[in-house]
Amino acid sequence: MTKTIQSLNPATLDTIAELPITTDEQVYEAVARARTAAPQWAALTYKDRAKYVIEFREVMKKQLEELAHLISQENGKPLTESLSSDLVPVMELATHFAKHTEKTLRRERIWLGKWDLMGRSSYIDYKPLGVVGIIAPWNYPFSIPTGQTLMAVMAGNTVVLKPSEYTPVIGEKIAALAREAGFPEGVIQVVTGDGSTGAALLESDVNKIFFTGSVNTGKKIMAAAAKNLTPVSLELGGKDPMIVLEDADVDVASSAAVWGAFSNNGQICASVERLYVHESIADVFIEQVVEKTLQLKQAEGSDYDADVSVLNNETQLRVVTEHVDGALKAGAIARTGGARLEGQPGYFYPPTVLTGVRPDMKIVTEETFGPVLPVMRFQSEAEAIAQANDSNYGLTASVWSKDRKRAERVAKQLHAGTATVNENVYTYALPQTPWGGPKWSGIGRTHGKHGLLEMVEPQHIHINKVGFMKDLWWYSYDQTRFSFLLAMTDAFFAKGLFGKVKGFGRMLGLMRKLKTH
Ligand code: NAD
Repeated sequence: MTKTIQSLNPATLDTIAELPITTDEQVYEAVARARTAAPQWAALTYKDRAKYVIEFREVMKKQLEELAHLISQENGKPLTESLSSDLVPVMELATHFAKHTEKTLRRERIWLGKWDLMGRSSYIDYKPLGVVGIIAPWNYPFSIPTGQTLMAVMAGNTVVLKPSEYTPVIGEKIAALAREAGFPEGVIQVVTGDGSTGAALLESDVNKIFFTGSVNTGKKIMAAAAKNLTPVSLELGGKDPMIVLEDADVDVASSAAVWGAFSNNGQICASVERLYVHESIADVFIEQVVEKTLQLKQAEGSDYDADVSVLNNETQLRVVTEHVDGALKAGAIARTGGARLEGQPGYFYPPTVLTGVRPDMKIVTEETFGPVLPVMRFQSEAEAIAQANDSNYGLTASVWSKDRKRAERVAKQLHAGTATVNENVYTYALPQTPWGGPKWSGIGRTHGKHGLLEMVEPQHIHINKVGFMKDLWWYSYDQTRFSFLLAMTDAFFAKGLFGKVKGFGRMLGLMRKLKTH
């Protein structure tokens, strides 16, 4: 019997669709088809591949409203965010990589110094990896998998994508858009299912896995990948700090805190999950944050007026409830929210501002991934930096101050892959810039030049232009060759010119006596 997966609307818990789960055998077949399609796809020019990517963008553009509604229905996020943070970033990314991939991945000549003078030359060609597997989360169910897919195919790879089990219909839609854009058979395929389908993809012979998701699954992915030494890129969680210095614009920074903590219902890897505000402005800052939070309209994502809506799934609701309840029990105060909204079938949790928070609470140490903003106070810049860095995560961080230079100096001291000044969260939408961070936030980068380089294999080509001569370090070995090589170390590494010239002289003297086979 075919196993199926149910797609639910998290606001109503109504079934959207029931889809067949791709069996392990079918996953391997998809990878085999991708393998067959790979050489022809890789043989196309960048310009040819770009035409497909731009066509994908055009096909998307014609259906933006329909796509936004589907994303809000299956993921739960407000419609405006489906458009602004799931769809538009893909259009931006498609445009950027269609235009710039060729330049970023063009042949790179390596300057070899004295070896160039000895008739050698080297360069690097960036070659496609082959077939890449992409395993995606539900929080940006369109932009994360589609963005990675389009980057991968621009770099010349073929793709097998496994979307989240919470957003399978959006996954199917990505496959449909690729078909409509005319991608050849086997270049972009989507398989459907939960973690076990992802595990099958890891078992297959894909050339690399691009995983975005939680730390726990990331660890499992890395362990499973070790079996076949499959390379992995891991984009994992965050517990991102926002530091508000005493000279910040309180109105702007408080609005940024509210948006950074509650957009996407707090389900962003780069959400503001820890806020540190200077003691001298803390009271007025918190008042403004509370006031602005209370103005947010919470409703089903498909309501055009919804600012915040619903958590995506029951697990998320459980984690958020556990973290907030734990903090409240330990003495924190909920200035807004603080408990699940009753009387609704879906996973509604109100935007929650917590004060009286201590650094040892789970709400500060673990990723909550929900609409909760824990606020803490600091007295000195050094204290704020130390607290912000006291975390297992390092995805993004932000610093707020009217003194840009000062904020920049603080930003540079934060352990974060992206540190922003008077700005937060949104740089994922800038395809030119790298995304990813140290510690438990993952391994590797996506987007930008660094993200593209994750999708190719650098091949070093080395050419000996004086191939009619035998190399001086070849056989046979004897005392003369040993002395010759010693003289060579002087010629190359002696500190002064005199020592170098002497070394060369000795080399020339010995060269005639070298025995070669
Ligand atoms: P998750 O780890 O539960 O699932 C992610 C994907 O992995 C899903 O497709 C799932 O089916 C698959 N999966 C689960 N077990 C697997 C296994 N054993 N083998 C192979 N695949 C498996 O994560 P989630 O709940 O979907 O997403 C939320 C998490 O993602 C948060 O921690 C968030 O911070 C993180 N995230 C990170 C980024 C980033 O760019 N760093 C972006 C978005 C989300």
